[in-house]
Amino acid sequence: MDSMMRIKFWGVRGSYPVPGSATLRYGGNTPCIEIRAGEHTIILDAGTGVVGLGSELVRRSAMTEEPVRALMLFSHMHHDHTQGFPFFAPLYLGTTRLTILGPGLNGHSPDDILASTMAPPNFPLAYDDLRASNTLRRLQDRDLILIGREVRVQSGTTPEGERDEDEVRIRVLRSYAHPSGVLFYRIEWRGQTVVYATDTEGYAGGDQRLATFSEEADLLIHDSQYTLEHYLGLLPGCPTTQGYGHSTPSMACAVARAANVKQLALFHFDPSYDDESVAAMERQAQGYFPNTLAAREGLEIILGTKSEQPTSRRKTKSKLRVDGSNVHRAGQIGATGSQGVKSL
Ligand SMILES: [Zn+2]
Ligand SMILES: [Zn+2]
Repeated sequence: MDSMMRIKFWGVRGSYPVPGSATLRYGGNTPCIEIRAGEHTIILDAGTGVVGLGSELVRRSAMTEEPVRALMLFSHMHHDHTQGFPFFAPLYLGTTRLTILGPGLNGHSPDDILASTMAPPNFPLAYDDLRASNTLRRLQDRDLILIGREVRVQSGTTPEGERDEDEVRIRVLRSYAHPSGVLFYRIEWRGQTVVYATDTEGYAGGDQRLATFSEEADLLIHDSQYTLEHYLGLLPGCPTTQGYGHSTPSMACAVARAANVKQLALFHFDPSYDDESVAAMERQAQGYFPNTLAAREGLEIILGTKSEQPTSRRKTKSKLRVDGSNVHRAGQIGATGSQGVKSL
């Protein structure tokens, strides 16, 4: 039985997209990750990386003659996590079945916020014109999402009931270590566990709530927007970024160590950083937590193996694969400096 969980990065950049020659290695698209667990597809955030993923899902749908079915989870509704949404091709297919879950923001529901990103005169179509069937719901702290034949959301106070090995289980943790808050997700399926914790700022000694939430995960994907020098305001012309709601590599490593995770992926890099800067962050982080990599577009991490028993756990190593053919880039845009610009 195939118990492999596939995690593919379609966008790893924070704040705004930066395509161009300086970001070819790690990519310039804003956050989007695809997770495939058996027949289930989960999309984490809809930054500009989701545009390439949408094309791929439409292509797969045409090949298999099966409609696109996916759960889209938003960590929060800042623009760099929603800006690719209007260009997600499956939205315009009447056969698509998309469930969208995320937090609200300042009293607005997730669908209000998405609708505001694609309304005339800013966009030619209105959100209500979408042909795909969308089910939206606002998530709360400690909710439990169950993906089986359908997607169900239970409050954290509801008894869990019996576990179904074929269901994907996703736990939600709300954090306030980012402006207006953010949701972390712990995704479990057949003994494999991935934690997604972007747009968060570390605490002294590491974020203990997040460490507990991430305990023994096979893969932790953690915000790593700034170098320590940038964070502390030691770079010429750059103010400190303390309080912006983003982490340094050492903050990410502190959580990885405290949680005893198997692997750490640094994520959500500052748009002013070129490939060499991100590579230097990766090397530095490996000094704190050896099994660390910097996420990059096209990278696929596979957890589990085909021969693994569904109920067993932690016998396998993850494998990495980079599929360059799926790296999507747009034309070059202008200046990439971030001085004085508060990060999303
Ligand atoms: Zn943000
Ligand atoms: Zn962000």
